[in-house]
Amino acid sequence: MHQVELAGLTVDTRHYIGGQRFASEQTFESISPIDGTVLAHVARGGAGEADAAVWAARNAFPGWRDLGPQSRGAILHRLADLIEANIEPLAQLETLDNGSLLRSHRRGVMPRVAMNIRFFADWAMQRLEHPVWQTRGHDNVVTWDPSGVAAIITPWNAPLMLATWRIGPALAAGDTVVLKPAEWTPLTASVFADLAEQAGMPPGVFNVVQGYGAEVGAALVAHPGIARIAFTGSVPTAKAIMRSAADNLTPVSFELGGKSPFIVTDDADLDLAVDLAIEQYDNAGQVCLSGTRLLVHEKIADAFAERVAARAAQIVQGDPRDEATQIGPQIHRVHLERVAGFVERAQADGAQIAFGGGPNDDLGGLYFRPTLITGAKPGSEILTAEVFGPVLAMQTFATDEEAVEVANATEYGLAAVVVCGDRERAERLTKNLVAGTIWVNCFFVRDLAAPFGGSKKSGIGREGGVWSFDFYADVKNTVYAPAGWKE
Ligand code: NAD
Repeated sequence: MHQVELAGLTVDTRHYIGGQRFASEQTFESISPIDGTVLAHVARGGAGEADAAVWAARNAFPGWRDLGPQSRGAILHRLADLIEANIEPLAQLETLDNGSLLRSHRRGVMPRVAMNIRFFADWAMQRLEHPVWQTRGHDNVVTWDPSGVAAIITPWNAPLMLATWRIGPALAAGDTVVLKPAEWTPLTASVFADLAEQAGMPPGVFNVVQGYGAEVGAALVAHPGIARIAFTGSVPTAKAIMRSAADNLTPVSFELGGKSPFIVTDDADLDLAVDLAIEQYDNAGQVCLSGTRLLVHEKIADAFAERVAARAAQIVQGDPRDEATQIGPQIHRVHLERVAGFVERAQADGAQIAFGGGPNDDLGGLYFRPTLITGAKPGSEILTAEVFGPVLAMQTFATDEEAVEVANATEYGLAAVVVCGDRERAERLTKNLVAGTIWVNCFFVRDLAAPFGGSKKSGIGREGGVWSFDFYADVKNTVYAPAGWKE
């Protein structure tokens, strides 16, 4: 009753707390966006479950901390091996639950999930050097101490990828973890807990609580027993979490939304620019980093819009399990309607639909057509608000200074794409762009050692490489007087 067979896996629908499974009185449905099938009835936790998970993680903390990076790393490597051995079923399960492409889960996302664990285990074992320097004969010894329980709250658009990008460094740093996956996509987190157990992770080191954000999520972030909050999601939720975290002064790391500019200069390689623009529709536009504001030099704007619209018309939309499909459905009905609302309001406000513009009637369900909007009024909603669907809006510019000014004119600062024919010109352009990550003549190249995060309302803090350990560890300076020293 508490288990379902999906994608060749037995998926437990209960919480995972202190190494054991617990049900809740209530459940919620996990529904596939592909065709509306109810996949599972999942435990709907609340304050009691959050409290139990935090205490399990606190009790497990001293043992995990004292294992040290090498022994923790051995367990994390076994976990990464198990993920690699289960790439196919994990990919199928994630596709059923969130509707993203099976082939990208199989070839890109799930291998990356394993890498998220392996990379940070190695980094903790090999790269966290302890600097030592002297002050008047005294040694300053800097250590990275595990900080306690990390609460990790994740969204639905890349569930296990975004969860493990936080879980990997938290566990490698010696913290214990309570994960609250998005209620839209709860399933792979549960399988991940089984794999962690198989890898030999001691009970309580990794815990999963399932349920709604306003219930179990809110109770978790308000808990005085947690040491860190790592949240990926929307700006309004981040504000609520920060208010709640303020009571305990719990440090937060936020990865939030974006409305990233995609700048194309008049000397750009147009074939490359069009290819990269089409990539912004990936995952049916449900990518925080997408460059959804096409900001194109006025000399090439008409030709560019025509070519992007022509290519958008060739995009194969459909069942994400089919190898030929390029974009799948939106995650749920309310989200689809939200995306449609943005497009309708843009049109009502005078913008033109160069391509797409609404749900895909041939497919029905939750499929929204890749859409290109032109002629929107400067500063209007479609040019400033995050749509989080397959909707690109195009603007033009006359000078590079204007491009930078317009690019920076939103409350977000997550990423930017610059397609430009000249390196020095690109360097001038990128200098004053406000964004955590800028890609020049490329997109989505993400090295786990590089800092990642957003400026302005796109986030607080950076993770990746040593920046992750800065967040999950307590950096401590211990000063040793030389032998025989007297003040
Ligand atoms: P959301 O904020 O609605 O939900 C995210 C998570 O927060 C879910 O697990 C939800 O249950 C939980 N939650 C909701 N209310 C809560 C509360 N009061 N207390 C604690 N937890 C709560 O976001 P979403 O719709 O799931 O995700 C889409 C958003 O995420 C977009 O804005 C997108 O840009 C952003 N995102 C950012 C990144 C990044 O790395 N910057 C990556 C992916 C998605």
